[in-house]
Amino acid sequence: MTTIKLHNTKTRQREVFTPIDDKNVRMYVCGPTVYDRAHLGNARPVIVFDVLNRLLRHVYGNDHVTYVRNFTDVDDKINARAAESGRSIGQITAETTQWFLEDMAAVGALEPDHMPRATAYIPQMVSMIEGLIAKGHAYAAEGHVLFAVESYKKYGALSGRSIDDMIAGARVEVAPYKRNPMDFVLWKPSDADTPGWDSPWGRGRPGWHIECSAMAYELLGAHFDIHGGGNDLMFPHHENEIAQSCCAHPESEFANVWMHNEMLQVEGKKMSKSLGNFFTVRDLLDQGVPGEVIRFVMLSTHYRKPMDWTDKKRDEAEKTLREWNNPDRISIVSDTAASEFDRKHIDNDVMDCLAEDLNTPGAISVLHRLFKDGNMEQFVASARYLGLPAADFEYFRKSSIPAMTEPINVMVANTVNDLIGARAKAKSERNFSEADRIRDGLLGAGIRVTDRKDGTSGWELVADFDPAKLEALK
Ligand code: AMP
Ligand code: ZN
Repeated sequence: MTTIKLHNTKTRQREVFTPIDDKNVRMYVCGPTVYDRAHLGNARPVIVFDVLNRLLRHVYGNDHVTYVRNFTDVDDKINARAAESGRSIGQITAETTQWFLEDMAAVGALEPDHMPRATAYIPQMVSMIEGLIAKGHAYAAEGHVLFAVESYKKYGALSGRSIDDMIAGARVEVAPYKRNPMDFVLWKPSDADTPGWDSPWGRGRPGWHIECSAMAYELLGAHFDIHGGGNDLMFPHHENEIAQSCCAHPESEFANVWMHNEMLQVEGKKMSKSLGNFFTVRDLLDQGVPGEVIRFVMLSTHYRKPMDWTDKKRDEAEKTLREWNNPDRISIVSDTAASEFDRKHIDNDVMDCLAEDLNTPGAISVLHRLFKDGNMEQFVASARYLGLPAADFEYFRKSSIPAMTEPINVMVANTVNDLIGARAKAKSERNFSEADRIRDGLLGAGIRVTDRKDGTSGWELVADFDPAKLEALK
């Protein structure tokens, strides 16, 4: 069996990976907060842990791995987006979740086994918080529940900070109900306009960190193998997850291996809206950059190094992939059952690179060599294994995004939801003629808007739906 070595943030060492149960290797990765399109940086952990998921499945068997990645669908950023757009939280989170899945499929990421939404696990979070209070690790104050960091001696061990360092360096929210400024929120009160659930501490909503602890416990158990995410999450998010989980289940150790990808930059600078170098995965796809090119560029840098997205790298990747997708060279496998073929022909050197702490740039060098030497079977199987569908040479003949990754109904839903948002805004400004114009225009395009009692609006397609008329309304 291939020996996998992984760099463990917890021990700061590259270690031989030994699963707790090799019949069920378990991995949890922090997923997106769903209120907007995934930016290019968000795709990095998805691709990195997709490679690890593939490696684990290859080594331990496809049915012997459980990979969980959550959706954070309760968060103040989502509430703010709903308030400013006039749309419901449900619409925003459902739409953004769908976008995320499509965009990540376009960059070749396999779906995890479980993709839990935080709002589906509120009772489990409440019960974990109750347990923490009962054990003296948390306290209720003014409708809030806070985790008492001083009750957990190892707090700060993952990121290597002491509580005093943290207080000095962090922008901590000072609040009168906190016993220690580093104490963090497990539960907070919600007013009538904010999503909330009944709890022993009144109507409220969970803090961010508790959701991952609760969902990981439910889906993977108290002790599991690998926990991942971007290194911006190491502190405080992962530190807090560890504190919560280890105090709620003191008999176990939570995750054995912690893995963190470094950040993505653009042309040497932090990606930011103010620098004008901020873009989403969808922006690139819409500009005609194939998902494979994005994936290839990401894999060309080791996940523990900062990675720089540049136009030059994008162009070079596109050139390489065009060459690799040469139908004359790779037609050799076109009629072979892919999975059986792949398993048999994945190149040992590619495997060795991946097994050495996911050395994806090394694996890509091996692909170059296999291609150059004409080892086409190994080349195709290994490229496909890395999620580069080298055998799918059809891809580059298409001029636009394949239908599968952008179903028409999602585009329609986006447009309709935007228009419904504009109508709600017009109504709130008492501009009823504009509101009616939008409603009638939608009906003319074959979409009937229904107003609900709670002030939100739904919609349905009626006869004679006409996409062109819908477009014209934008
Ligand atoms: P967020 O929705 O901001 O919580 O981020 C979702 C995931 O994307 C987390 O694992 C982050 O660490 C990761 N992430 C955010 N920004 C970047 C970036 N610039 N480079 C790499 N990973 C990032
Ligand atoms: Zn998390």
